[in-house]
Amino acid sequence: MGKPTGFMEFERVNTGNRAPAKRVGDWNEFLVQINDDNLKDQGARCMNCGVPFCHTGQNIGRMTAGCPVNNLIPEWNHLIYEGKWKEAIERLHSTNNFPEFTGRVCPAPCEGSCVLGINEDPVTIKSIERSIVDRAFDEGWVTARIPLQRTGKTVAIIGSGPAGLACADMLNQKGHQVTVFERDDRIGGLLMYGIPNMKLDKKIVDRRLELLKQEGIMFKTSVNVGRDITAEQIKKDFDSVVVCVGATVPRDLKIPGRSAKGVHFAMDYLRGATSSLLSENEFEIDAKGKNVVVIGGGDTGNDCIGTAIRQGCKGVTNLEIVTQPPEGRAASNPWPQWPLIYRTDYGHAEAAAKFGDDPRTFAVETVEFIGDADWNLTGLKTIEVDWSKPRPGSAPFSQLEGTEKVLEADLVFLALGFLGPGPDFVEAFGLQTDQRSNISANMTDFETSVPGVFAAGDCRRGQSLIVWAIREGRDAAEVCHDYLMAVDA
Ligand SMILES: Cc1cc2nc3c(=O)[nH]c(=O)nc-3n(C[C@H](O)[C@H](O)[C@H](O)COP(=O)(O)OP(=O)(O)OC[C@H]3O[C@@H](n4cnc5c(N)ncnc54)[C@H](O)[C@@H]3O)c2cc1C
Ligand code: SF4
Repeated sequence: MGKPTGFMEFERVNTGNRAPAKRVGDWNEFLVQINDDNLKDQGARCMNCGVPFCHTGQNIGRMTAGCPVNNLIPEWNHLIYEGKWKEAIERLHSTNNFPEFTGRVCPAPCEGSCVLGINEDPVTIKSIERSIVDRAFDEGWVTARIPLQRTGKTVAIIGSGPAGLACADMLNQKGHQVTVFERDDRIGGLLMYGIPNMKLDKKIVDRRLELLKQEGIMFKTSVNVGRDITAEQIKKDFDSVVVCVGATVPRDLKIPGRSAKGVHFAMDYLRGATSSLLSENEFEIDAKGKNVVVIGGGDTGNDCIGTAIRQGCKGVTNLEIVTQPPEGRAASNPWPQWPLIYRTDYGHAEAAAKFGDDPRTFAVETVEFIGDADWNLTGLKTIEVDWSKPRPGSAPFSQLEGTEKVLEADLVFLALGFLGPGPDFVEAFGLQTDQRSNISANMTDFETSVPGVFAAGDCRRGQSLIVWAIREGRDAAEVCHDYLMAVDA
C-alpha cells in the first residue's frame, strides 16, 4: 500500500483541462497532465482495501462496475507512490495493451467502484494510468517486442478498432502471423475516425500502430471484406478469422422532413472532420456560422458539439429525450455501480464558455424537420415528454400537449446510437445475429455460428467502450490461439 494515512491526508486532484474558451481555438488535446509530485500523493490515496472493487470489471445492473481489463490498480498506485515508474508500466501493460487510449478516453468505471469513493472522492485512477504510459513512452521504455518464434499459423482480423488491434497484438505475441483488414483508409477504427483529435490525438494512435507494424502485424487498408474480398477467400487463405467490425449502423430518426438537406448522421460528420484535418482539406460538412442542433447525448453527441464549436458554429443546442440525471447517486444506483449522475463533458463546458449556457435540454422529443422551398433545413419541431406517463404499446413516455416549439437549425446531427454491424457483412459470412442485430457469440468462447470464425468488440456486444473492446480482443485471442493450436493436434 502507498501511504497508510494517504487517503486522510491528500485531497483528490483531477487531471486538468485547458480553459474551454481558449482550447476551442485549436484541435489539440485538452487534457493537461498532473505533475509527478501530485501523482505521488494521488497514488498514496489508494487504501489498498482488503477487497478492492476497482479492478473487478463486471456488469452490475447492466452497467460496468470496475475496470473491464482488470487493471492491477492498487499495485500500480503503490508503485507510483514509491516512484517505480518502470515497474508500473510493466504491470499496466500486463493487462492493458493500450493504456494510452484508455488513460485518455475511458469513462473510468474503476473510479465509480473505488472503495474510497463510498464516502470520499475516489482515487484518480485514470490520470495515474495515463501518466504511467505517457512517461514510459517519453523515457523510451515502450519498444517493439518482436516474437522470437513463429507458429506458422495465420489469422485474419477484420476491423482495426481497439478490439481488432488488441486481438492482433495478443495473437502476434503468441507467434501467429496476423493480417488486419480495414475498409477505411486509415487504421484504428473509432480511435482514428470517431473520437476527435482534441480528446485523443491521432499521433498517439499512430505511435502505437508503428510499434505493432514493427512487431510483425500486417495491415491492409481500404479493403472491405465481404465486398472487395469474399468471405470464402478469407476463410481459405487463413487458418482462423476474428471479426472485429464494430457496430457501425447508425440509428435513424424517421420523422417527417428527414430528407431535408442539413440532417446528417453524427458519424458522417465526425469521420469527415477528422479526415479533413488529417489530410488538410476543407471540411465536407462545415458548421461555421451555422445553428447546430445535436440530437442525442453520450460521447458521440458531445464530440459533435466540440467539433462544431471548433469549426466556428453560430450556436449549438443538444436535445436529449431522457430526463436530466440527478446530481448525486440515486438510492437505486448504489456503490459500486457506475454512478448515473449529471455530468458535464468537455463539449458542454465549451458550449457554456462560448455561448453562455449549457447546451442541453432534457426530456424533449424531435417530431419534425422543417425545410425551405429548396428543402434546405431551417429548423425542427420539438415537444416535451413525460417519462412518468408511459403510453402502453406505443412509447415509454407521453408527449406534453402545448409544449411544442420550433428551433432554428441549419445543421442537425443524429447521435442516437448504433444498431450492430452492417447486414451485408453478416450475410457475406453467413453469421447468425442476436435480437439486437449483433453477431451471436458468447463471452466465453467468442465463436460465431461459423466454425473457426470468432467475433469480438462492439459487433458482438453492441456499442460500448474502448476498454471493453480491448478486453474482448484479448479474450478472443486466447480462444482463437487454442483453436489454432488444436487444429494440428
Ligand atoms: C463518436 C464516438 C465517440 C466515442 N467516444 C468514446 C470514448 O470517449 N470512450 C470510450 O471508451 N468509448 C468511446 N466510444 C465507443 C468506442 O469507440 C467503441 O466502443 C470502440 O471503438 C469499439 O471498438 P471495436 O474495435 O469493436 O470497433 P470499431 O472501433 O468501430 O472498429 C471497427 C472497424 O472495423 C472496420 N470494418 C467494418 N466493416 C469492415 C469490413 N467489412 N471490412 C474491413 N473492415 C471493416 C471499420 O471500418 C472500423 O474501423 C465512442 C464511439 C463513438 C462513435
Ligand atoms: S482502463 Fe478505464 S476502467 Fe480500467 S483502470 Fe483505466 S480508466 Fe479505469
